[in-house]
Amino acid sequence: MEGHQQPQGRPFKAGIAAIVGRPNVGKSTLLNQLVHLKVSIVSPKPQTTHENIRAILTGDGFQMVLLDTPGYLAQPAHLLDQQMVRMVRGALLEAHLVVMMAEPRPPGDIEMRLIELMRVDQRPAILALNKTDILRNKAELLPVMDEYSRLYPFLEIVPISALRADGLDLLLELMVKHLPEGEPMFPPDKVVERSVRAMVADIVREEVYTLYRQEVPYAVAVAIDELRQADPQHGGKDYIRAIIFVEREGQKGILIGKGGRALKEVGTRARQQIEFLLGRPVFLELWVKVRPGWRKDPHFLRWLQEANS
Ligand code: GDP
Ligand code: MG
Repeated sequence: MEGHQQPQGRPFKAGIAAIVGRPNVGKSTLLNQLVHLKVSIVSPKPQTTHENIRAILTGDGFQMVLLDTPGYLAQPAHLLDQQMVRMVRGALLEAHLVVMMAEPRPPGDIEMRLIELMRVDQRPAILALNKTDILRNKAELLPVMDEYSRLYPFLEIVPISALRADGLDLLLELMVKHLPEGEPMFPPDKVVERSVRAMVADIVREEVYTLYRQEVPYAVAVAIDELRQADPQHGGKDYIRAIIFVEREGQKGILIGKGGRALKEVGTRARQQIEFLLGRPVFLELWVKVRPGWRKDPHFLRWLQEANS
């Protein structure tokens, strides 16, 4: 990624960053945008030791593990939940760097609570003031930045718009700057460039194999037919429609199962993993289609690649 290349001989940076902030502040949007920058990302396997890893970003000269913190609580009041505090605090303690996201207005109760938690353990933190696109006048930021800097010794305060991808290059650069030197924690060969669609397709295919490997060996392709973020028609959840392609009618029957039970099982398991990956609720719809000989059809394979990129 341009602008982030470490000059020759500069030490590799590697570390864990926790993104914290009130619900709806834009944590998931930021994460998705970081994925679209030229960094690679891997989806965590459920069996990784850090069960709250949401993504691993690898770029030139750095590898950054992003920790999930409770992201989609409906009610801000839940922030005071014991368990939530424990989870946030766990992530804060584990992280080398905290990225606190806030809206470009004076801190509210949740922000004060987060700062309190960071103070206990004196965590190094960057403040990202998100949604600056909604400000009519950027000068409105100054008193907000001032107030935050009095509350906590933030290493950096960066105005961004996650939605419009404003300021994200700088944010990423500063995050890397404040990571410790170190070796990559995950082997580079495990870190491949993936889109969210490709990862979602993989998750669905893996679940099909996990449950029905015997019955449908190697004969399954998954295409992400539609992916809509925060879809009003599905209660504000992300709507994902995936098509599972099999080669024979019999395989379709097996995958759907009696009364659709088999497919439902695949869907439930896949949905849970996708929600974990994206950090927000998902409405996953699965279809099964028969397409004989798809593995030898270059048109289909090209179409499949496009659907999932
Ligand atoms: P999270 O709950 O912290 O993960 O927040 P989300 O990433 O789900 O974002 C919540 C809402 O804020 C969504 O409707 C986003 O589109 C919106 N949002 C996120 N970033 C920005 C931004 O920079 N500007 C504006 N105007 N809206 C944003
Ligand atoms: Mg979220």
